[in-house]
Amino acid sequence: MTVLLQDYALPLSRSDLFIEAAYVGGKWATDTDRMEVTNPATGELIGTVPNFGAKQTSLAVDAATAAQKPWAALTAGYRGAVLREWARLVLEHARDLATIMTAEQGKPIAEARGEVVYAASFLEWFAEEARRIDGEVIQPHASDRRLLVRKEPVGVVAAITPWNFPLAMITRKAGPALAAGCTIVIKPSELTPFSALALAKLGEEAGIPAGVLNVVTGDAAQIGDVLTGDPRIRKFTFTGSTSIGKMLAARCMDTVKRVSLELGGNAPFIVFDDADIDAAVDGAIAAKFRNSGQTCVCTNRFIVQEGIYDEFANRLSERVGKLVVGPGLDGRSDQGPLIDQRAVARVSAHVEDAVGRGATLMTGGTTVCGPGTFFSPTVLRDVPADALLCREETFGPVAGLLKFRDEAEAIAMANDTRSGLASYLFTRDLDRSIRMTEALEYGMVGLNTGVISTEVAPFGGIKESGLGREGSRHGIDDYVELKLVCTAIKTTP
Ligand code: NAP
Repeated sequence: MTVLLQDYALPLSRSDLFIEAAYVGGKWATDTDRMEVTNPATGELIGTVPNFGAKQTSLAVDAATAAQKPWAALTAGYRGAVLREWARLVLEHARDLATIMTAEQGKPIAEARGEVVYAASFLEWFAEEARRIDGEVIQPHASDRRLLVRKEPVGVVAAITPWNFPLAMITRKAGPALAAGCTIVIKPSELTPFSALALAKLGEEAGIPAGVLNVVTGDAAQIGDVLTGDPRIRKFTFTGSTSIGKMLAARCMDTVKRVSLELGGNAPFIVFDDADIDAAVDGAIAAKFRNSGQTCVCTNRFIVQEGIYDEFANRLSERVGKLVVGPGLDGRSDQGPLIDQRAVARVSAHVEDAVGRGATLMTGGTTVCGPGTFFSPTVLRDVPADALLCREETFGPVAGLLKFRDEAEAIAMANDTRSGLASYLFTRDLDRSIRMTEALEYGMVGLNTGVISTEVAPFGGIKESGLGREGSRHGIDDYVELKLVCTAIKTTP
């Protein structure tokens, strides 16, 4: 592992994209009560945002409510054109958006650029889908009836998003919401508000009318109370941890809101003896070390067949040992800091626990000196199945390897979790690949690949990993209601 310690200032070609105000009803709203945002690579202050609470959040809901019907009354083609322009502006300002994201979130600048493109892809995709929100004409149950099913926007949407993908987790929700004719109030993570605010600024420039898109920064609990409790909000969409998601979803039931949840995972990465080992090691690096292991689809457990186990462990450890750790704004860094000190503490605890239970440390396993919250990329072998890192989401750069003998054991180990988001499988045996993809209790399976996310495919989990799907043609479904119009007619003049 190489460690880079130098850091760089925030070079933006459009400094007005760095905004220290919330966005409510088409206005940039501020307050003397502020929250600080720091750079995890340096610990330095980047800026401050308003520390809004319930009152200002209700104002955002007022604005979203007032704007919803007029927005829905526009043609789908018009709404799509606004979304397409928003996507274009996001791509035009990719460099600045990536710089802001890396400064507040920490990920390497190349990954941040990748996320900007990924974020824009949802706006573009749902710009196209807007014109395909078609209803149905159903064969009637009686000769004097006609049945029409309309798809109507659910209304005002509330979205709470995490810090690990500060742009894409927003566009995956705002894209379909706006396409369907909904308006939205977004609460980004307090750790990464500047990406969300820059995105809102570009949305404003793209022609999104006042009140259609609102971004509220501040006290999570107070904002969350309004977003889950206000009866005017008809849909609540959340991406984040399973514990917070469950708690907020339960609150939404008082007003019977539509709820979508994208929660945590515990992804298995299964490698069979017959796998292409080069592809498996490449896939492992992508599925484990992207964003320093801080993605919901990150591998949490490597489950490797006994015949290939030693070779896979050695090859993975060798590759991981060469990863360059440093500030994300330094183009040489493969891996940036973790989001904060709490994350470092959790990752350290998982490593200590595994070693304490008999696992062997092959590389890494240490915090990195310096002002930032870095943790060295780590490989552990012979991790017992009851180790913390097999039972909880590590959300950090630690690859823990477990051994299996046969297919039945691999399936049992992989499915032994209450999560069901992403899973990965490496094999060259066609029959086995079909048996295994059918047996895995997950919303997504990567077969011979460690990268599965795209705007064109449904993203989401089963079991306690969530409800609903984002992206793809299914992604719009959570933002529309079906309305039946049952018409009685006289069948003779
Ligand atoms: P988190 O702590 O649950 O936070 C997510 C969001 O919820 C943040 O905006 C946070 O605000 C807010 N929040 C926290 N407590 C709240 C409360 N009492 N009331 C209202 N809002 C509250 O999760 P995280 O650590 O940011 O994100 C990591 C988790 O997200 C991981 O479990 C990961 O697997 C999951 N994730 C899932 C997906 C998916 O698609 N399935 C995608 C990405 C991430 P503050 O940050 O301001 O406190």
